[in-house]
This record gives sequence, structure tokens and C-alpha cells, in this order.
Amino acid sequence: AARNPGQPEFLQAVTEVMDSLWPFLEQHPKYAEQGLLERLIEPERVVMFRVSWVDDHGQVQVNRGYRIQHSMAIGPYKGGIRFHPSVNLSVLKFLAFEQTFKNALTTLPMGGGKGGADFDPKGKSAGEVMRFCQAFVSELFRHVGADTDVPAGDIGVGGREIGYMAGMMKKLSNRADCVFTGKGASYGGSLMRPEATGYGTVYFAQEMLKTRGTSFEGKRVSVSGSGNVAQYAVEKALELGAKVVTVSDSSGTIIDEDGFSIEKLAILMEIKNHLYGRVSDYAERTGVRFEAGVSPWHVPVDIALPCATQNELTLDDARTLIANGVQCVAEGANMPTTIEAAKAFEEAGVLYAPGKASNAGGVATSGLEMSQNAARLSWPREEVDARLLQIMQGIHAACKRYGTRSDGTVSYVDGANIAGFVKVADAMLAQGVI
Ligand code: NDP
Repeated sequence: AARNPGQPEFLQAVTEVMDSLWPFLEQHPKYAEQGLLERLIEPERVVMFRVSWVDDHGQVQVNRGYRIQHSMAIGPYKGGIRFHPSVNLSVLKFLAFEQTFKNALTTLPMGGGKGGADFDPKGKSAGEVMRFCQAFVSELFRHVGADTDVPAGDIGVGGREIGYMAGMMKKLSNRADCVFTGKGASYGGSLMRPEATGYGTVYFAQEMLKTRGTSFEGKRVSVSGSGNVAQYAVEKALELGAKVVTVSDSSGTIIDEDGFSIEKLAILMEIKNHLYGRVSDYAERTGVRFEAGVSPWHVPVDIALPCATQNELTLDDARTLIANGVQCVAEGANMPTTIEAAKAFEEAGVLYAPGKASNAGGVATSGLEMSQNAARLSWPREEVDARLLQIMQGIHAACKRYGTRSDGTVSYVDGANIAGFVKVADAMLAQGVI
């Protein structure tokens, strides 16, 4: 804490991993040698930079940009770019740290990184967003590259923003290699990348439910958020026969007791992805219930999928979900559950998956995009989907392998942390003190 003052999210992420690792390290002391833990906690490089751009009124705006290059031990730095006013060093360091373990879990050769800016895309014109993205890349470009660091999307960065950034990157570098993933299908993107995080989260939850002989069929599901991850989590849950009763954004929650349908989801996607609107606009258009200022966790469900942002599900929320009989919680977002809430789920015997395991399908498919770009070809949708499912099943198996307790139950938190750690740690030990 003394080395990282004012970084509560980063300390939270490190604490969660270390809680899992201590008992493992006692049994495997080689992993505590060569300053391994100290090195693993310290990002390899942090870049902070000014982003100046001109808004539609001719005013100069100044934002702060970041890229955290956390670990290159098993491959090029890899992780998303977030544009949100809450972005700061602590948030991005936590995300880059988590990303390192998550990417190791996918088994693909990707290191960990994360970046972004405290830019708020809400209410900005398309021209302003483009000029911001170009200004951001005019500095970022010297720190990234297909074999160095490959960014992707995250909160506030979707297909449109990736397009602007990848375009500027090409212009500055005079190269067409894979420096961004999440690209559009017309210029090198992988089919299924938009769906991958949400689908992967549901695939992971499906594997957890199987261990108890059950499935999504007929289950009530709550989803938080209404962005990229949330939308495709809803879609896959519907496909598997679930009844999805909520989505949300930072202004409040939609509660639809009739359940979402593919037609309703299409309306939500149009409002969110093309009109850049709010869930309250969706409520107005469809006449469903909207509760301002609340999260979805008071609604009784069998399965909860937090897909919005960090620390959106607190101990009180966890207690309410448990009292209402929740069986499974799989995180689509990164660290949406506080440490205390996660412990409450595990103590209550709820199937609980941390994001670094359950939302790894997004970055895994980004890894597949890198492979396709390197081979200069494009795989059909079915092939990417099959690989995604296989990777999620592999992560589930790794969690079970490292997280099975003496009573036979599984801590997915311990399993994910230890499995991810072992891969990164082995690579670091083999490569010496660097
Ligand atoms: P989007 O920008 O597409 O959507 C974010 C959603 O979360 C929006 O509905 C947004 O609402 C809501 N949200 C953001 N901040 C807050 C907040 N402070 N309080 C309440 N709601 C909030 O982002 P993504 O769907 O891509 O990302 C969602 C989560 O998933 C993040 O934690 C991200 O790190 C994680 N993730 C994303 C991956 C990807 O492939 N995109 C991969 C792995 C993890 P509003 O519009 O009101 O801000």
C-alpha cells in the first residue's frame, strides 16, 4: 500500500490474488523465489500522456491518456482501452494486473496490459470522438505494435472507436499489421469478436451449472450493464432457454418480468449501439419498467451476470441475491463484485466465477483475431465459436484442477488465480530476473 498510495482498485485486485496464492506458495516455495511476487505486482512499464484535441465549439480540450504494460512474460502486452471519466492510474493498473492472469488462462500467447483515458464519450459528436481517438493514438502509436502491445476495446470503446484508432495507427506507421483487435470485419476483424465476451461468460456459467446437473433452461437471469458484454450475454442466455429479466446502465435498471426476447434485444441494441442512448430511452420506447438510480440485484433470480463495471455488486447486494436463492454468479465485467461480496457467495455455496475466468472469452477471441491476421486469412463464424467454447471449457477445467477444496467443492477464485499464476510464474522463472 505504501508503494501505491491512492490506488484502492489496484490494491483490491492484488489482495484478491494474494489471498488465493498464500496457501499454494507454502506448498510450492519455488514460486516465492527470485523476487517473483514483487516483480509480478510491478507493471513492466506505465505510460501517461497528454491528449489534446479541439471540440465542436473550437475549444481545446485536454485529457489524460495511459497505457499500462503489465507483463510480457508469455506474449505481447494485450488488453483493452477504456474511455470513461472514472479512468485513473489505479483503475487501469488493476485491469492490467487482472488481464495478465486472464490472458494466461486462455492458454494463448498473450501478456497483460490495459489503457485508456478519462475522456467521457457521452454527449460527444461522432466528429469529436474521431478527433479524440486520433489524438490519443498520435501518442499511443509509439508504444504499441503487433509483437509489442495489441490493444482492444473496453468500456466506451467499441467498433467505432477501434476503427478510428486502427486507422490512425496505419497512417502513422505505414503498416497494416494487427495492432488493434476488435476491428470491423471489412478490415481484418474476427467474426464473433463482438459476441465473444458475453457468449463466453454464459458458456462458462453453463459449465458451472453442469457440475450441479442443471442448465440455463427455464432459469431467471439478471444482467447488469447494457453495453457490448451485457447485450451478448443476454442473447446467449435467451438462446439457452433462460428468462432474462434485467439490464441496466449508470442511470438505473430495466425490469421486465415478461423476459427479454430477441426482438426486444434488437431494440436495445439499436438504442445503445447506433443512437448512443440510455436504457431509459428503451423503457420509453417499449413501455417496460425502469427504476432510476438502482442496480438489478434486488430482483430475485437463479443466475446473476454482472456485466457493467468494477465494484457494482456489494456485500449487501450479495446478501440480497443469496436470500433470494441465487445459484450462480458469473462475472462478465472485470471485478464487479467486491471482495466481501465474493466471499459471501463462496461461503453460501453459490457457484461464483471471477471475471478473469468467466469473461476471458473476449480476449481469447482477440487472440484468435491476431492469429488470423498473422496468417492473412479469416475463419468462419462456426470455427471461431467452437474454439471459444473449447477455450471456456478449458478455463473451467483449469479452475477445477487448481481450485477443488478438500470437501470436493470448487473455489473458482482460487482456481483461476492459481492456474493463471502458475503459467506466468513458470515463464518468468525460465526467463531470469529481468
Ligand atoms: P460498454 O461501454 O459497451 O458498456 C458498459 C456498460 O456498463 C454500459 O451499460 C454502462 O452504462 C455500464 N457502466 C459503465 N460504468 C458504469 C458505472 N460506473 N455504473 C453503472 N454502470 C456503468 O463496455 P463493455 O460492455 O465492453 O464492458 C463492460 C465490462 O466488461 C467492463 O468491466 C469491461 O472491463 C469488461 N470486459 C469487457 C470485454 C470486452 O470484450 N468488451 C472483455 C472482458 C471484460 P453507461 O452507458 O451508463 O455508462
